[in-house]
Amino acid sequence: MKWSFKIGRAFGIELRVHITFFLIVAWAAYVWGVSYGHGTAGAVYGSLLILLLFVCVVIHELSHSRMAQHYGAEVRSITLLPIGGLALLKDMPEDPRKEMWVSVVGPLSNIVIAIPLALLLLATPGRAVPESAEGFLDLVTGISLRGAVTYLFVINIMLALFNLIPAFPLDGGRVFRSILAQHMPFPRATRMAVVTGQLFALFMALAGIWLGAWIWVLIAIFIYLGADAEGSQAEMKSKLSKLKVADAVTGRMKVLSPEQSLGEVVSFTLHSYQEDFPVVNEGALVGVLTRADLIKGLGQGGTETTVGEAMETSFPVVSPDAPFSEVYDKINQTRVKAVPVVDEGRLLGMVTLEHLSEVFMLIDSSRKPLFPG
Ligand SMILES: [Zn+2]
Repeated sequence: MKWSFKIGRAFGIELRVHITFFLIVAWAAYVWGVSYGHGTAGAVYGSLLILLLFVCVVIHELSHSRMAQHYGAEVRSITLLPIGGLALLKDMPEDPRKEMWVSVVGPLSNIVIAIPLALLLLATPGRAVPESAEGFLDLVTGISLRGAVTYLFVINIMLALFNLIPAFPLDGGRVFRSILAQHMPFPRATRMAVVTGQLFALFMALAGIWLGAWIWVLIAIFIYLGADAEGSQAEMKSKLSKLKVADAVTGRMKVLSPEQSLGEVVSFTLHSYQEDFPVVNEGALVGVLTRADLIKGLGQGGTETTVGEAMETSFPVVSPDAPFSEVYDKINQTRVKAVPVVDEGRLLGMVTLEHLSEVFMLIDSSRKPLFPG
């Protein structure tokens, strides 16, 4: 994500902070320092409280991530935004039960954090629960250890409950989808969960307008758009899985042999748009030469370097019968720009990144709106 920078690493996952995150820290410093009138001490207290709140958000995201890793997914990074955390998952298995566990551990982790906080409030002198609403407000707007613990307790319970609302893109929406998916096909379950999430968002927005609670309207818009994005992404994936590699493979391509020099390859690239080349020796595919390999080879050994010296020898391949989504996954995993299509050892062609984006464009233009008109 743009405008975010790395603050650390945990369990092989990069932790990043978005620059706008500092706005909310500044806001908390202002609220406790100026609005609540505690001066410099209040500003420090407010900032520390928000930082602790974000530690809870990181724990929430790490719980999702650790569970996803347990099921074999790759977690690239967690980014902290003012609205919460965002974990980037790759290759999450499409198994409703696994998805349910990955989703549910996030809100659960906030409940787990809330328990010792509640115990702390019970164990220390003073009433665990303030007698009146004013007493509660005094406590959380003041600066005291008890106020901080109460604030964090309430926030963690709210985080758990809010995220369990069965509306996409909240965790509860994913849990809801995975429960549905155990009784019906995945795309249908997604569609139902998307519509439920959007209906929920509409009610929330109406209630917000009725009550004048504009933050509800804002959250409702976020839920509505999130549900829509989730729905179209799932639709895209299911359409990709119906398409076969054979539908998109190109046979018109230049094939290299390992003995050719990079100088010769350069002259081909000047006359064609092809950037990645399959390398074939005695009828068998032995390597792939990408644009990056070509540049690296030229840099190290000059134009006399052979293709065989510069090419990649470990590379993904797909069979023509494979679903197109497999190419998408392989390109994503290995960051190659082209995947050779091989049928029983015979090279049929290549599927390139450009094909992938063309296919995406075709699918996207045929996409139907959820609420037509
Ligand atoms: Zn979550």
